[in-house]
Amino acid sequence: MIDTHAHLYDEHFTQNWEVHLHEMKTAGIQEVWLPNCDRESWGALWELYVANAAFCKPMIGLHPTYVKEDFEEQLSFLVKELQSKKVLAIGEIGLDYYWDISFKAQQITAFEKQCHWALEHHLWIDVHCRKAYADLIAILKKKEFNDVRGIIHCFSGDAREAKTLVDLGFTLGIGGVLTYKNANLFQDIQEIPLTNIVLETDAPYLSPVPYRGKPNSPAYLGLIAQKLADYREMPLADVIQVTSTNAKALKAYSSFE
Ligand SMILES: [Zn+2]
Repeated sequence: MIDTHAHLYDEHFTQNWEVHLHEMKTAGIQEVWLPNCDRESWGALWELYVANAAFCKPMIGLHPTYVKEDFEEQLSFLVKELQSKKVLAIGEIGLDYYWDISFKAQQITAFEKQCHWALEHHLWIDVHCRKAYADLIAILKKKEFNDVRGIIHCFSGDAREAKTLVDLGFTLGIGGVLTYKNANLFQDIQEIPLTNIVLETDAPYLSPVPYRGKPNSPAYLGLIAQKLADYREMPLADVIQVTSTNAKALKAYSSFE
């Protein structure tokens, strides 16, 4: 299995790396894709990737909740790194109106700029979107972004937004929220073909049931796959096979080994 989104460079993992790595591998995880947050997180992310190149794959980008007064400096630092290093994707990037809307305009500017990076480097984008689906869709529908592809990580929109994004060529990243009793996620993605879904954990956040409230791990990815198999009434092996194929297609899109 491939975990398409986990913050493994978080100290929670790096402080006890060998133990976590063993646990992930034992749980059947072959690869984990690392979304970046900002300039500060990039060093740890890249270091972890270099030391574990077969297991970890790097993304670069400025996360929307890290878009503040200094976002232009952040972007110019990150774009320089992008010019000299090979990465899997631009991420995680997007819009987050849940925590703070005081930098809304800057979030939009930063997101559009990074979509252009993706087009220039023929990479896909890993999108973080919270309480901002209308704006996200409006941006992705712009003509200049016609060819932008990627994952809507931790998809949290409604059924109509799910369909719109898939029609635009996007894949939905599905994680621990699927296991939450009160979440409508399974209904919202019911009409979405499995060929447009990938699995992720967002570890160390968003632990699936029965680990809610504790640190998450890619080792729990199987619980999410199992839940999806239950909802779709199909064999677990098929869910794993199709979602892994989808993830590999994105890797191929970026020509990443
Ligand atoms: Zn994340």
